Amino acid sequence: MSSDEAFSDVLQANEAHAAQFKLAALEGNAAKGLAVLTCMDSRIDPLGMLGLKPGDAKILRNAGGRVTDDVLRTLVLAVYLLNVDRIMIVQHTRCKMASGDEDDVRAAISAAGGPDTRSLSFLTTQDQEGAIRADVQRVQSWPYLQGLAVGGFIYDLGDGRIRRVC
Ligand SMILES: [Zn+2]
Repeated sequence: MSSDEAFSDVLQANEAHAAQFKLAALEGNAAKGLAVLTCMDSRIDPLGMLGLKPGDAKILRNAGGRVTDDVLRTLVLAVYLLNVDRIMIVQHTRCKMASGDEDDVRAAISAAGGPDTRSLSFLTTQDQEGAIRADVQRVQSWPYLQGLAVGGFIYDLGDGRIRRVC
C-alpha cells in the first residue's frame, strides 16, 4: 500500500470535516479544567463517555491508560499552562493490558510475526484496581503536581458506565 493509499479514506473525510468546520474559535485551555488519561482502545470515546465536547478537556491516551513519565510530563504542561486542575485516570474492562502478564503480550506479538520485545516494558497488570490506585498515587505524590483532584476509574465497555475506584 502506498503512503497515498494508506490515508486516502481519512483525508477524504477530512475534506468534509473542513467544509463544516466550526472549532476555529476554540482556545487551547481545557474549558472544564479537566485532563483524562485513558487507554488507546478504539472502543472508548473519551469525550462522549463524559459528556464532553472539543475544547473541554485534555485527553491523554496510551496502552492501558497508565501513568508513565510522558504522562507526567504532559500533565505538568496541562496543569500550569492549560487550565487543568482535575485529572481522571480511566482504565477499562476487558483491557488487554490488564488481562495477562508481560510474557503473554510478548508471546502474542511474536506469534503475530513481530520482533522479540523482551527489552520493552508494556506495563501489564493482573490487578487492575491496584494499578489504578498506584497510578493515582503516583500523580498525587509527584512534587510537580500538587493540590489537584485526581481520581481513578474503570469504564465498562459493556454498558458505558464509569465506576470510581479511588
Ligand atoms: Zn485497554
